[in-house]
Amino acid sequence: MTTDRSTPGSQASLREANRARIVDAVKRFGGLTQIELAETTGLSTATISTIVKELTGAGVVDTRPTSRSGRRALKVTLARQLGLVAGVQFGHRHLKVALGDFGRTIVAEQQMPLPLDHRVDTGLDRAALLVVDLLERVGASMDELLTIGVALPAPVDTSTGMISVRGVMRGWDDLHIGQTMSKRLARPVIVDNDANLGALAEHELGAGRGHQDMVFVRASYSTGAGILLSGHLHRGYAGTAGEIGHVQVDPMGDICRCGNRGCLDTVVSSTALLDLVRSSHGDLTLRDLITRATEGDPGCRRVIADAGDRIGAVVAQVVNTLNPQVVVVGGELAAAGEILVGPLREAVLRHTPPNTIAPVEVVLGELGPQAEVMGALTLALQSTEVATDHQTISTLTDESMAGRSRRTPAP
Ligand SMILES: [Zn+2]
Repeated sequence: MTTDRSTPGSQASLREANRARIVDAVKRFGGLTQIELAETTGLSTATISTIVKELTGAGVVDTRPTSRSGRRALKVTLARQLGLVAGVQFGHRHLKVALGDFGRTIVAEQQMPLPLDHRVDTGLDRAALLVVDLLERVGASMDELLTIGVALPAPVDTSTGMISVRGVMRGWDDLHIGQTMSKRLARPVIVDNDANLGALAEHELGAGRGHQDMVFVRASYSTGAGILLSGHLHRGYAGTAGEIGHVQVDPMGDICRCGNRGCLDTVVSSTALLDLVRSSHGDLTLRDLITRATEGDPGCRRVIADAGDRIGAVVAQVVNTLNPQVVVVGGELAAAGEILVGPLREAVLRHTPPNTIAPVEVVLGELGPQAEVMGALTLALQSTEVATDHQTISTLTDESMAGRSRRTPAP
């Protein structure tokens, strides 16, 4: 049996390129059967089968039995030994941390409450501690952690990891969040806006799959949107694209956290919605409001439906500007399902010109409250190239083939 090392030339580089194509496809889609790999890469099933055997032997991919259209098949995923990535989501009131592998599986996760307007160093300390705790819990060492993706409820300048609009997260304004977190964990940290990351996750793994132009609306304690154009996140020059929470809907309205007047957020943020039911229902949390609405409480249903209508009118302007195929609705408020999405959809359709070719779809997200942390994991995976670059695969495979040929003499 020969190895690439002993047969330099075009045959070897072709095999190396084919291996890289297969690994790239598995990385991109998380896990594929060999038939799906053949369809995705355009390689023959025989080539796929040979290379997958090599990559399995080299510890680059794992295979496990599955069924596809009722037939038995082998599902190919990237091997755990390639390392783990962490996703961190800072909410207004909570912190969520997850560890994921290259098969896009969450291997461990934990959530903890955070005090409202918590101090930035407290938040970052707790996040770093949770990452270390989770690594210990799955029996992984710090060496196995490759990259950390962080989701913030604020527009982020991804080139610096700093928040690009002052006042949205009090106390976090002047900090290079990526650099600071990176120092605590000694790993690369990439920071992005939570709606962008929700959009990324729904596009890769959820309701936005197969759609190149998509808007993800994150209706939560505050409101934002993540925009995908031609399959790529559109963040804008300073990261403020999709800040629909700060579109003015009432020129005489309340002053917003951002300093402007009558922003959408002053009307549909959790604070605004809970204020509406205080005299009738007392002090509720956002979760209480959603639970009561889904149980049929007419006042709570009305508050969420009206919020859907107000958000939909603003989303319609985005739809008019960008002409997406689909609007995916997520965020905490989306737990109310059609109570929110129904009026939001009606408002989008009412405020956009009838499109007979391809009317925009407005659908509920499929990933629920996991969307943002899964997006943070996806971003971390996408920016981790070390273990799957051509050189590493080639080296791993060559070593394994050399080892195998030592153990079993070539015929
Ligand atoms: Zn505002």
